[in-house]
Amino acid sequence: MISADTAEAQILELVVPLDSRRDCESVSLLDAPGRILSESVLSPTDFPHWDNSAMDGYAVRSDDIRQATADAPVELLVIEEIPAGQPPQQTLEPGQAARIFTGAMLPPGADTVVMQEDTQRQGDRVQIFSAGHPRAFIRERGSYQRAGERVLSVGSVVTPTEVAILAAVQRTQVEVYRRPRIAILSTGNELVSPEETLQLGQIVDSNQFAIAALVQQMGAIPLCQGIVPDQPEALKQAISTAIAEADMVLSSGGVSVGDYDYVDQILSDLGATLHLRSVAVKPGKPLTVATVKNSSAPLLYFGLPGNPVSALVSFWRFVAPAMRKLSGRSDHWPAPFLVARSRHDLKAGGKRETYLWGQLHITPTGLEFSLSQGSHSSGNLINMAGTQGLAVVPIGVTEIAAGSTVRVLWVGADFQ
Ligand code: AMP
Ligand code: MG
Repeated sequence: MISADTAEAQILELVVPLDSRRDCESVSLLDAPGRILSESVLSPTDFPHWDNSAMDGYAVRSDDIRQATADAPVELLVIEEIPAGQPPQQTLEPGQAARIFTGAMLPPGADTVVMQEDTQRQGDRVQIFSAGHPRAFIRERGSYQRAGERVLSVGSVVTPTEVAILAAVQRTQVEVYRRPRIAILSTGNELVSPEETLQLGQIVDSNQFAIAALVQQMGAIPLCQGIVPDQPEALKQAISTAIAEADMVLSSGGVSVGDYDYVDQILSDLGATLHLRSVAVKPGKPLTVATVKNSSAPLLYFGLPGNPVSALVSFWRFVAPAMRKLSGRSDHWPAPFLVARSRHDLKAGGKRETYLWGQLHITPTGLEFSLSQGSHSSGNLINMAGTQGLAVVPIGVTEIAAGSTVRVLWVGADFQ
């Protein structure tokens, strides 16, 4: 059985990302947060647009104030006032200064700004108490970015900082990748929808909703295909439909070695290539990963285990990285691990990489992990409420003592 890291790397190799020319759409700036750029954005102008003042103070000629000190100030004639947003009207001649405010354009002739705190105004004159060096407190035209240079790259996630940049370069519409369409289906004769009355032996299909929520959280579109019974024909029909309609398919259940586990056989019948059938993780050992051709690109099919916790863990560990790559993001595909100090003893069997769920705490001395109390059985969904991270007990380790550091898979909102 292959390790989780190997499986993740293999899965990422199989993903064909959306196409930046074909799979894109234009959205307005207000609809852009969370989307992924399918174009590079160039700056139409220099940033800053012109030399401007970084301070409230006086624009002066540095030659004039070379000798200025607190004891022997230099006096200059104030010839105009330049508020931000108003172009200067005059050129500074020797012995002259202009009152200037933060962000205002530097007048011609000036080559430095003296901050207000180093001056004293008397009528139309100002005393300068310090010798400023040339270009002090000036934000030079083009010093942040030159016109024509790239300010944002293809594959960047639009967060509030990208929105600020797009607004600054006057892009009110921007090209982004379309949202990936992810088909979701649940398999099992025992499954019923949440609104149905449970009969003896039946189980509510929680996976459909959990996986749809995860897909949505990642900015993709869930295509919920419902419950499919463990009948080869029905399953074949449902899987074919899902493959035709989606960019990726996620089914849960039916991938173990039981008599009613038909998913792998049906994928083979449909001409899919099976790449993985199990991974050395707990929970989540059975995991089918296949590729199959649909009308556009080769599509990735995940047959997730049916146990509710296993399905979630498999999603976080293997599906989420694949979705990040599919979506057009240029980086940060792999599962995000961090290091935390465990507040509890963590126990595992030692045979498979084991994931234990719990919460993360930000403390002044670093991150800490606390284990959810109650059973860590793959069937126990109930104590997963509030899960932020999965602590990893590696293969060959049976106990990590409280106080030790542990790797934790972050499963909260996506890292950008
Ligand atoms: P399977 O992988 O089909 O053998 O299912 C393993 C366990 O997960 C069984 O106890 C199933 O009843 C349960 N299960 C399968 N699918 C779901 C689902 N969609 N929602 C909740 N539990 C499920
Ligand atoms: Mg089943």
